[in-house]
Amino acid sequence: MPPAPTSSCVLRVALPLPLPRLFDYLAPERDGVVPQVGARVRVPFGPRERIGVIAALASAADADVPELKPALEVLDAEPLFAGELIDSLRWLARYTHAALGEVLATALPGPLRHGEPLSDTHDWAWQLTEAGHAAVDGLRAGKPRRLAERLQRGRLDETTLDDSAADAAIDDWRGAARSLARRGLAERIAVAASSRAPVPAPGPTLHPQQQAAVDAVLAADGFAPFLLDGVTGSGKTEVYLHAIADCLARGRQALVLVPEIGLTPQLLARFRARLGVPVHALHSGLPDGERARTWAACHRGEARVVVGTRSAVFLPLPDAGLIVIDEEHDGSFKQLDGIRYHARDFALVRARALDVPIVLGSATPSLESLRNAQTGRYAHLRLRQRAGNAQPPAVRVIDVRKRPLQAGLSPELLDAIGRALDAGGQVLVFKNRRGYAPVLMCHDCGWNAQCPRCSLPEQGTPMTVHAGGRRLQCHHCGARRPAPNACPDCGGLALQSQGAGTERIEEALKARFSEVPVLRIDRGTTNRRDALEQHLAEFGNARGILVGTQMLAKGHDLPNLTLVAVVGIDEGLFSADFRAPEKLAQLLIQVAGRAGRADKPGLVLLQTHHPEHPLLATLLTGGYGAFAELELEQREAAGFPPFVHLAMLRAEAKQVEVANDFLQAVRRCIERDADRHLEISGPLPAPMPRRAGYQRVQLLLSAPERRGLHAALDAALPAIHTLPEARKVRWSLDVDPVDL
Ligand code: ADP
Ligand code: ZN
Ligand code: ZN
Repeated sequence: MPPAPTSSCVLRVALPLPLPRLFDYLAPERDGVVPQVGARVRVPFGPRERIGVIAALASAADADVPELKPALEVLDAEPLFAGELIDSLRWLARYTHAALGEVLATALPGPLRHGEPLSDTHDWAWQLTEAGHAAVDGLRAGKPRRLAERLQRGRLDETTLDDSAADAAIDDWRGAARSLARRGLAERIAVAASSRAPVPAPGPTLHPQQQAAVDAVLAADGFAPFLLDGVTGSGKTEVYLHAIADCLARGRQALVLVPEIGLTPQLLARFRARLGVPVHALHSGLPDGERARTWAACHRGEARVVVGTRSAVFLPLPDAGLIVIDEEHDGSFKQLDGIRYHARDFALVRARALDVPIVLGSATPSLESLRNAQTGRYAHLRLRQRAGNAQPPAVRVIDVRKRPLQAGLSPELLDAIGRALDAGGQVLVFKNRRGYAPVLMCHDCGWNAQCPRCSLPEQGTPMTVHAGGRRLQCHHCGARRPAPNACPDCGGLALQSQGAGTERIEEALKARFSEVPVLRIDRGTTNRRDALEQHLAEFGNARGILVGTQMLAKGHDLPNLTLVAVVGIDEGLFSADFRAPEKLAQLLIQVAGRAGRADKPGLVLLQTHHPEHPLLATLLTGGYGAFAELELEQREAAGFPPFVHLAMLRAEAKQVEVANDFLQAVRRCIERDADRHLEISGPLPAPMPRRAGYQRVQLLLSAPERRGLHAALDAALPAIHTLPEARKVRWSLDVDPVDL
C-alpha cells in the first residue's frame, strides 16, 4: 500500500546528475497524486527545473525540513519503476559506481526522461472511408491505388502493413496512406492491441540436439542460465523460438536481445510468423516516440515478445518468463560511454531477480561465458551439427612475408579473387579493423616489437607505436624505447606499423578488376543498419567485390559469396589489448561462416605474416572450442579476466600532465586503504592517446575478487570526487572495461 499523503512527507529524489547522492524535497504543496517510490517528479534545481525519480520517502523528522523546497509535481500516479526493475537498477548503480539518477535516466526512452506521460499503446489501423470504397476503381494506377485495393478487402493494421510492405510492392505504404487520407478516402483508427492474432506457422522438426536444448530450457524452474553453444546455422534461433512459444503459452513475456547489426527485418518477420503474436522491436534507429510506446507496452504487460538491442535490457517486464541473448559475445552489448553497462551481464542480474531462465546463444561464446559453463555456473548446451545442408568452407592461409603487396593485398590473393569472379561468384575482402594503437612489424620476417620487461606466455606483450612512429611503449608496464630503424631479427628495412585501410583496398581492387562492381562498406560509407541492408540489397547476387570491416561479418545472407579474403589479421594477433585474440578468433569464424552458405562450396583465405601462429593453427585444426581452451589457459597464466576483475579510470585533458596528475592523485586515494591483492597499473597513455585535441590517460585496477575491487572503489570514490585535480579533467570509471 502506498503511504498516506502527508504534508510533511520528504521525497528523496534521484536526479540525472553525476553526483552520487539523492536530493531531498518536500512533497508538492497542491497535488492530488500520492508520491510513491519509482514515480517521476518535477523539481526546482538551481535556476532550472529537472525531472527526477523518487528513490525513497522519508518522514520530516529525518530531514532538515526548513531548508527544503517543495517539489513541483509528481508525474506518475503509478510508479514507472516498480518492483524488480528499480531493485535491479539500484544494483546497477552500485556496480557501475554511478549516480542512481543517471542510471534511471539511461533506462528511460527520451520522452519519458523529459517528463512526458506514458504513451498511448493502441495499435493503429487503416480503413477506407465510404467515399474511399466508392472511389477505388477510379483511382490512377500507383501506390495509393494498390493500397486502396488491399483496404477494400478490410482494414489493416500498421504492423501488418509494415510486414507485408515488401511483397505487396507498397514499400512506402505510409506515404500512400497519407495521400488517400488527404483526399478523404482512407482514415487511421485506433484498435485494441489484442485484435491481431495471426496463426503461428509451424517450424521444422527439431533435430535431437535442438530438442535436448529445448527440453533443458523448458524444464527450468525459476532462474537458470544456459549457454547455447552452436555453430552458425545449427538451429539456435529455432531453440529460442520453441522456448519463447512455451513462455507465451504460460502467459509470460519474453525479451530477446540481439547485437546492433543483428536486428534485421528478416529476423523480425521470422519471429512474427512463427510466434503468431505481435513482436515489438526496439533499437537505436527508431524514433523516440516508438521507443516510448514499446516501453509503455512492456510496462502495461501488453508487449509479449520484444526483440531489441542493448538498451532493451532496461524494459520493464512485469510478467517476465524468459530472456534470450543472441550472439552473447558481441561487443555491441557493452555501452562505452555514460553508464558503462554490459547488457548481457545486466540481463543475467535481471533474470536472477525475475527468477526466470536466460539463454545465452553464440557460435563463438565469450571466454567469460565459457568459463562460467566450465565451472558449472551455466548449463552448457551444444549444437554440433548444421541444420541445413550447407558445407563448412575450406580455409587456407597465405604467407605474405616478403611478397610484393598492393594496398596490402598479395599476388596470390588477387589471383584467387580473379578466379572467383571468373566463375561468376561474389568476393568479400574483409579488413580486420585496426586496433587503436598500431604495433610495429617487419614485412620481411614478421618480427614485431615486444616489451622486454613483461612477457605473456606464448604471445608476448607487444609494444605500440607512439610519437608519430618514433617511440615504442608497453601498455602493460609503461616501458619505453625508441623505435628501431631496421628489423632486429633480419636487418630488413620494411618496418611498418599498420596495413592499408579499406579505402586504399577499394581503389586497388577497382583498378585491377574494373569490369565488376566494387562496393565498400564501413562506418565511413554506411553508418546505419538500414543503409547496410539497402546497399547489400542493391548489390544483389551479381558477381562483384564487397570490401569492408566488422560490419560485414554478419547480417544479410549472401548466397552467391564463394570467396572470403581476410587481411589485417596480424594486427589482431599482436595487439596490446588482451582481448584481441578472442575478438579475432570470433571474427574469423564469423566471416568464414559467410562463405558458401548455399549449395556452392566456399573458400576462405587468411593473409598473414605469421602462418604458424598458435591462434591460427589451433583455430584451423580444432575450431573455436580448442582455441578458447588455449586462450583461457593463457588468460589464467597472465592474470586477465575472467580470472581477475578489472576497472578502468580514464581521464582526458588538453595537457597530458594535467590528466596524469589527476590519475596519480586517484592512485594515491586508492592505495591508501586498498588491500594488497589489488593491482594498480598506470597512469599510462590510452590505446588511442589523443582524441579531438585531448590527451587521454588511464589507470587500470585489477583484483582477484570482485568484492575487493568494489570495496576499494567504494572507499576511494568520495575522495576522488572532491580532488581539486578532478575539476581540471574529464574523467570516468569503467567497471569490466572491454577496450583496454
Ligand atoms: P542459427 O540461429 O544457429 O544460426 P537457425 O535457427 O537460424 O540457426 O537455423 C539455420 C537454418 O536452418 C534456418 O533456415 C532454419 O530454418 C533451418 N533449421 C533450423 N533447425 C532445423 C531443423 N531441425 N530442421 C531443418 N531445418 C532447420
Ligand atoms: Zn625482419
Ligand atoms: Zn611491459
